[in-house]
Amino acid sequence: MTLRLAIPNKGRLSDDSVALLRRAGIRLSGSTERRLQARALGGRLQVLFLRAADIPAFIADGTVDAGITGLDVAKEAGVDVTSHVDLGFGDCRLVVAVPNDHGARQASDLGDGTRIATSFPALTRAYFDGLGTKVRIHEVSGACEITPALGVADAITDLTSSGSTLIQNHLRELDTILESTCHLFARPDLDGDAALELERLVFALESVVHARGKRYLLADVPRDALEAIREFLPGLGGPTVVDIAGRPDWAAIQVVIDESDVYDAVHRLKDLGGQGILIVPIDRLVP
Ligand code: AMP
Repeated sequence: MTLRLAIPNKGRLSDDSVALLRRAGIRLSGSTERRLQARALGGRLQVLFLRAADIPAFIADGTVDAGITGLDVAKEAGVDVTSHVDLGFGDCRLVVAVPNDHGARQASDLGDGTRIATSFPALTRAYFDGLGTKVRIHEVSGACEITPALGVADAITDLTSSGSTLIQNHLRELDTILESTCHLFARPDLDGDAALELERLVFALESVVHARGKRYLLADVPRDALEAIREFLPGLGGPTVVDIAGRPDWAAIQVVIDESDVYDAVHRLKDLGGQGILIVPIDRLVP
């Protein structure tokens, strides 16, 4: 086995990690259903499904060579791992929150002795040390947002994504401690074949990240419209223009386009006489 890669074993992060690998051309075989272990790339890659929060320590102690997990848990673990790619999914924020009827407007309004429930004691401690506030940290492994209602905490620090869990629990955000996404992390001292395989994995995952939000547009257009088209379809280096056999006054264009520009671009192409317009998804993009 050349490279041992850990990915989360549960929830959205697990599903998104498997989908990302698949898009990069890495098909897992083995006990993927039970989310224990799998192999890929003809045995060059071993994938281990582990708890997201444990992955940074497993990378640092050499149990695995690399792993996909959140920046939040890597920072909390405080271990020596190197981020190679920001994968862009699993975005969330670690925030300080208080009950709606609390008088504080910002985290610095919380005084010495404030009881804070959190699953992120190290980041929370460092944050309040930075503010010069001596808080009392009450570590919990989940369901942090109910602790103020239970009377065991005055405030919490917790991950939030849409914010709806905080709202449901009558909590209000004060400040953000950390913004997080999932990254590909690896041991800093990786060498030999494992380092080479990691380099290939980084290249593959970066190409998936580059393709996100992009589409490939193909169309047949009158040649005399090409100049106008170049102005609103710049692509990666201008659209590729291809001759169409038997139609000298026409050309086929191919161009990478932002998903958000597709709607207007199709209408403008149509107005300029475009035909056979196709929009197709892109799995990977190597600029
Ligand atoms: P929200 O979308 O803010 O209601 O968050 C829903 C729940 O998911 C909260 O309890 C968060 O702690 C948790 N959560 C949100 N994003 C992440 C993430 N990227 N990683 C782990 N937990 C998360």
